Amino acid sequence: MYLYNSATHKKELFQTHTKDHVEMYTCGPTVYHFAHIGNLRSYIMEDVLEKALRWRGYDVNRVMNITDVGHLSSDADTGEDKMLKGAKREHKTVLEIAQFYTDAFFSDCDKLNIKRPDVVQPATGLIDEFIRVISSLIDKGYAYVAGGNVYFDTSKLERYYIFNDHDEEDLAVGVREGVEEDENKRNKNDFVLWFTKSKFEDQALKWDSPWGVGYPGWHIECSCISMKYNGDYLDLHCGGVDNAFPHHTNEIAQSEAYLGHPWCPHWFHVHHLNTNAGKMSKSKGEFLTVSLLEEKGYDPLVYRLFCLQSHYRNGLVFSWENLDNAKAAYDKLISRIAALDGGDGEVDWETLNAYADKFAAALDNDLNTSMAVTCVYDALKAKTNGATKRAILGTFDQVLGLDLLKKADEKRAQQAKQTASAVQGGYTITGEGDPAIDALVMQRYEAKKAKNYAEADRIRDELKAQGIELTDTKDGAAWRRV
Ligand SMILES: [Zn+2]
Repeated sequence: MYLYNSATHKKELFQTHTKDHVEMYTCGPTVYHFAHIGNLRSYIMEDVLEKALRWRGYDVNRVMNITDVGHLSSDADTGEDKMLKGAKREHKTVLEIAQFYTDAFFSDCDKLNIKRPDVVQPATGLIDEFIRVISSLIDKGYAYVAGGNVYFDTSKLERYYIFNDHDEEDLAVGVREGVEEDENKRNKNDFVLWFTKSKFEDQALKWDSPWGVGYPGWHIECSCISMKYNGDYLDLHCGGVDNAFPHHTNEIAQSEAYLGHPWCPHWFHVHHLNTNAGKMSKSKGEFLTVSLLEEKGYDPLVYRLFCLQSHYRNGLVFSWENLDNAKAAYDKLISRIAALDGGDGEVDWETLNAYADKFAAALDNDLNTSMAVTCVYDALKAKTNGATKRAILGTFDQVLGLDLLKKADEKRAQQAKQTASAVQGGYTITGEGDPAIDALVMQRYEAKKAKNYAEADRIRDELKAQGIELTDTKDGAAWRRV
């Protein structure tokens, strides 16, 4: 599989430390508010990546943190703890907020068919581990205590790695929001590993440490959680592109200083979801959540399809109009699959494998999901039986996660119910449960009854033009799409 690597700025053959096994880490949410659909774009694409790796035969161990302490309102160690902000806003304790929004996050993930990682670790559950690693960084000379806080000393590194292929806007975040200079820092890029002093003395969660009562910085959480559950060699690190700097830069600095060897060779960054007003964020414009999409009548999987239709390294523009287009595409796709006759025939494995090869080629080309979706349409047009088409779609959906067969079966069941009820005045219409078509069939019957044969023929022609084949039956008429 070829994947773009933000660390080398190239599309590369993806390789792992251990054959056929991937140690994968994903930066998890800071659980102080609902996730907006821009955040969820990253999790959808990371989910597709994980499923694609599994589909290609890798055994994957995926680890994710839940940030429930230490993430300040600027990524660059300034401002108020986001969790505390959430607790104050809702008059709850930080732990209540963390639990509530963790549950909300996973509920959104379930609706979007995002598989739960193998390991999910809240930061507050691993404080001893953070203290152990920070102590070791001090012992090794990579960290220092100043003004009550522990800082990482970036001047001790041979190279303080900065991904330089992301938006300048991201780089500017630290600068813009971190206007008040922290005088304890020896170097501009140094960052906090452990806080005992901050401007916000009412920090709710604090722990004892060799440097005083305090709390960990955000960056150390991810390094420690990954090293604990992924081991010393991580194969693949994922996150939104806005995490690239300073968060991922600092993760690399800490982990490599601690381990004494290179840590993670491959970095996968998902780009922003934008609105016409710019990058989607919690602070500006409409706060778009999965619940809001549902309230407006969208199946969350429509949003998943919307994300899959574009490449993860391109910015994606959200608008209701764009989402409506995805909805129309999804509905049509499900209808076409529902119309497949899957009951008869045996699966033609040769055809299935040929289509699976094309699908694999799309995934192997830097996770080209829009091409993978195109493979679904190609499979529907294949010159093969319904059983084979369904088998192909089922295989693809292990990666796409669009519930293609499930939704199609639900639609068939619903149509069967509607068909049974399409009895009007003793005239039974058997079809696929499309009220517009049923109405035309009924009009033709009325015309025939009135001996208006010209009109009856006209309606039959109209139906034919719509691809409908009509047969008169003993009690009424039956129609099907041809
Ligand atoms: Zn992280």
